[in-house]
Amino acid sequence: MKVDITSQTKLYGVIGDPISHSLSPVFHNYFLSQRNINGIYIPLKISSNNLASKLKLLKNNFSGFNLTIPHKENIMKYLDEIDDLAMEYGAVNTVKVVDNKLIGYNTDGVGFVKSLEYMKVNLKGKDVLLLGAGGAAKVIALEVVKLGGNLTIANRDIERALQVKNQITKLYDVSINLVKLAELNSSFHVVINSTPIGMYPHINECPISSNLLEGTELVYDLIYNPYETKLLQLASKLGAKTINGLPMLIYQGLKSLEIWTGELATTEEEQVLYNEVKKRITIHRKD
Ligand code: NAP
Repeated sequence: MKVDITSQTKLYGVIGDPISHSLSPVFHNYFLSQRNINGIYIPLKISSNNLASKLKLLKNNFSGFNLTIPHKENIMKYLDEIDDLAMEYGAVNTVKVVDNKLIGYNTDGVGFVKSLEYMKVNLKGKDVLLLGAGGAAKVIALEVVKLGGNLTIANRDIERALQVKNQITKLYDVSINLVKLAELNSSFHVVINSTPIGMYPHINECPISSNLLEGTELVYDLIYNPYETKLLQLASKLGAKTINGLPMLIYQGLKSLEIWTGELATTEEEQVLYNEVKKRITIHRKD
């Protein structure tokens, strides 16, 4: 890939801390180049303390950027406009710069839902266990409820799980069960992991005990590096269908690109991008 950088080249990027593990530059740049868009996408390491001071530079020079840990919630107070769905989630992962204004969106939910469609999974009426109650869990929990799943959230810190529940039940008339992660003792049709247990440095760990996976139909791990976590290996051995975080990563990224450029990927392009990113997965350590 060769980009002829000029003053007309559009700048896109992802900001976070840590950021060296991010695979987003791989497929964003691949897509931009395939579509002959005069743009580049770069990773930018920006800490929480520096977010406010760097926004002017981003606003004056970038056409759009993604946000990852730890900025998805903090960015909201600096934005000029926020799309309704991002407001519902209480988190923003995509910013578009329009006429010197910062407009926030969240494409993680689209990524999650499209990954389920791709795997031909229907959550309606299923007992769904969501492990974790952090930034990603807020999005997943809301989408599980909207798809008609019976949701239970398990987290170490039950207060944080309660916050996710309250945020959803303010908007939707649904019941959500909560349980402390260490006190889980029953099985579910579907298990979704949104904790970092399974990625470096926890690659040999599993967020729940394997006996709770007996009879589980589907296990979804948001982690994509490693490609198959300990949880997915165990689930697979027990006969469950498994999904890792790669389809969600690709779909949320493509939705961001659509917001910035108006360009939609074809199914063939989605598959090529998936393979390109998969090739680049190695065990990354935190920077
Ligand atoms: P986050 O906001 O930091 O939340 C992390 C959650 O994991 C919290 O609920 C936390 O529990 C729990 N947790 C952390 N360490 C734990 C441990 N040692 N044991 C048990 N629970 C632990 O992170 P996030 O943004 O939600 O991201 C979570 C995961 O999803 C990450 O692996 C991230 O890479 C992945 N992700 C993937 C995609 C994708 O496109 N595939 C998108 C977004 C995120 P407490 O509340 O008790 O601290």
